[in-house]
Amino acid sequence: MENYSFFDNVNKFVGQAAGYLELPQGLLDQIKQCNSVYQMNFPVKLDNGNYEVIEAYRVQHSHHRLPVKGGIRYSMAVNEDEVKALAALMSYKCALVDVPFGGAKGGVRIDTRKYSESELEKITRRYTTELIRKNFISPAQDVPAPDYGTGAREMAWIADTYSSMNTGELNALACVTGKPISLHGIRGRTEATGRGVFYGIRTAVDVTEDMESLGLTPGLEGKRIIIQGLGNVGYYSAKYLQEGGAIITGIAEYNGGIYDPNGLDVEEVYQLKQEKGSILDYKNAKNIQNSIELLEYDCDILVPAALENQITAENAPGVKAKIIGEAANGPVTTEAANILQEKGLRILPDFYLNAGGVTVSYFEWLKNLSHVAFGRMDKRYEELTNRSMVAAMEEITGHQLSDTQRSSLVRGAGEIDIVNSGLEETMMNAYYTIWEIMKTKETGSLRIASFISAMEKIATAYVARGIFP
Ligand code: NAD
Repeated sequence: MENYSFFDNVNKFVGQAAGYLELPQGLLDQIKQCNSVYQMNFPVKLDNGNYEVIEAYRVQHSHHRLPVKGGIRYSMAVNEDEVKALAALMSYKCALVDVPFGGAKGGVRIDTRKYSESELEKITRRYTTELIRKNFISPAQDVPAPDYGTGAREMAWIADTYSSMNTGELNALACVTGKPISLHGIRGRTEATGRGVFYGIRTAVDVTEDMESLGLTPGLEGKRIIIQGLGNVGYYSAKYLQEGGAIITGIAEYNGGIYDPNGLDVEEVYQLKQEKGSILDYKNAKNIQNSIELLEYDCDILVPAALENQITAENAPGVKAKIIGEAANGPVTTEAANILQEKGLRILPDFYLNAGGVTVSYFEWLKNLSHVAFGRMDKRYEELTNRSMVAAMEEITGHQLSDTQRSSLVRGAGEIDIVNSGLEETMMNAYYTIWEIMKTKETGSLRIASFISAMEKIATAYVARGIFP
């Protein structure tokens, strides 16, 4: 793994997809490369009075559409190669799900567990200042979001720093998404990636011919699922999958995993993690000290939702799942993907499956630019119209609905309903598109089909701007 490059790995897939497209070499090179790479080092004064120099990055992969968009990751694994790869995946992801942004990614090389809240705030605010200095953040140019190790709290610090340094900018709060609702974030953003993972997996397992060829029955009901990582993406994926009828049999965390073939209660396990910082010793579940072993346990669907490079050439032969749902970015290496492909597994690729986050981020950005919450203008009107329709129906049929039936029929759509329906539509449409490409172009894999779909759209955007013939 020493010479392994995540960015090269992404470009290997791009190269394979290019084989199905007739793109001029110059255009292909332009699509592959990162347009701007910003590496910075800045000092931060710690609570104990000492100074520490922090290494950080922001990479803008593709300017074919602006602003560029991508999360900010806080992790000790952050390095230039990783940020470049994740920025590239963002370009393909946005194009795939028709979110009109280019791709970007940020990374700060820190272990969040080693810092107090006020130290993390200082790091985040200083990082934002560095981004502002070089025009690497603004509603029109580059809009970050949460990723591994960051959440609404960090996004609030970023929004506050940016707006205080850009007073008078009407759309300043659109400089970052994933903000708290109280700071004009959007309902449903926190859980969006996990909800999107659920919609993606549900759509995939509903395709009867695919399930038959995998030896599975169609539908989510009763599918045994193992999840790696019970953070933002893993927790919400597990929660919605369980609510959708699946059985979560295993959960892996960095300090150990748990397994119970009869199913784990996701909410209870999550509460345990919140209270004790560990999911171990949950009821009758078996503890697994080396949690990576769980990836080779018997199940129908494996959902890696933690970090990249978790399924490698070493453990891929032992994977027993029939479907891998890549909720994390880059959890399966190219070599491992080839092994799994040969074993006949179906991989739902990362930049499709975890696109829910950026989709709802796009909705948040739109909300911030329009300065009005979705549903505010028409919810009441919709309710009044529905109410008159129901009243007319009751009069014509002579049948009175119960109060519960009536209120569910007349209800107008609020922000969360609109966000979730937009997300569901996006995830289902994108799946049908890539499934169709996989079949018609005989790519054999959804990943290559996804790259084909995304690259076609990026190429079209460049050509439309007259940059390439
Ligand atoms: P997070 O920090 O909320 O959660 C990550 C979880 O993984 C934590 O609970 C952590 O303890 C656990 N973990 C770390 N190392 C582990 C290991 N070796 N084995 C098992 N568990 C481990 O991060 P997140 O936002 O949920 O991101 C997870 C993945 O999803 C990342 O690859 C990220 O790039 C991707 N992603 C996130 C979003 C988003 O909206 N947050 C969107 C798209 C993709």
